[in-house]
Amino acid sequence: MFALSGCASVATTVIPNVAAQVPSPGNASVAAAPTAAATQQCADPLASLRPSTNPPPGQMPAGSTMAKIVQRGKLVVGVDQNTFHMGFRDPATGQIQGFDIDMARAVAQALFGDPNAIQLKALTSDQRIPALQNGDVDIVVRTMTITCDRLKQVAFSAVYYDAKQRILVKQNSPIDGPDALGGKKVCATKGSTSLAAVAALPAKPVPVSVSDWTDCLVMLQQGQVDAISTDDVILAGMTAQDQYTKIVGAPLADEPYGMAMPLANQDFVRFVNGVLQNTEASGAWTASYQRWLGGLLPGAAPAPPTPQYRD
Ligand code: GLU
Repeated sequence: MFALSGCASVATTVIPNVAAQVPSPGNASVAAAPTAAATQQCADPLASLRPSTNPPPGQMPAGSTMAKIVQRGKLVVGVDQNTFHMGFRDPATGQIQGFDIDMARAVAQALFGDPNAIQLKALTSDQRIPALQNGDVDIVVRTMTITCDRLKQVAFSAVYYDAKQRILVKQNSPIDGPDALGGKKVCATKGSTSLAAVAALPAKPVPVSVSDWTDCLVMLQQGQVDAISTDDVILAGMTAQDQYTKIVGAPLADEPYGMAMPLANQDFVRFVNGVLQNTEASGAWTASYQRWLGGLLPGAAPAPPTPQYRD
């Protein structure tokens, strides 16, 4: 004979309060404090290698990085597919496009005489350096800031776009700048300079890290974070996608973008700098700027940055 203990006849069902919990994007977490490496200094980080006089498409010097890429038949580029107007997947065509993609296609054009001789690999901010170091991509063209820390791990072209880090909030938010972020949750992607800058703010916000910039926008919309902080050009894409957001406050940092390549491929860095020079001289840079970014950032000058070289 078995005896049932307790009130076995009373069925109690606990219904979890799921409605009150909005799921967070995968990998969302409160970020660790920035390491010292994030703020390292070095001499002339923006000075790249002087451009080479580039050979005609398809006639790359034997043994060069460019010849190897041409032999393979396509340029493999690490890009973003989440940043509206810079590198995003157009839902109508399924194609990844934007200002960064135009810059990458200019390199393919110079190598092959064909801007479509290209394979685009979508990368998160955090995947950029490993993708170059593992040889998964030939070049990264993905809103990537040239920093002293990164220059130890990858090589950069001359600056092709000058961004500035700022703050995005909902239209009705009282947050008006970096000083108002004390104790507030601020979203940025893992592996970005933006996250390190947020974590270093004297006001002491709570940095929240995610994989992709669209994850930050969703968290802001769901009320899971109070602000997003990253480059003005990325935030401007978000304001175009969500009219209930606004960019506030003075810039937190300069974010000069370079195309990143493996450290060893110095010949390719010179080649890419030659491509950039031609792109800027031909008006192609300005045409792409006007197409994607013109009007998006009021007051921004549609002029290519002046390149700096160290040899
Ligand atoms: N420009 C910054 C960086 O390179 C933020 C942009 C991004 O991560 O996509 O880290």
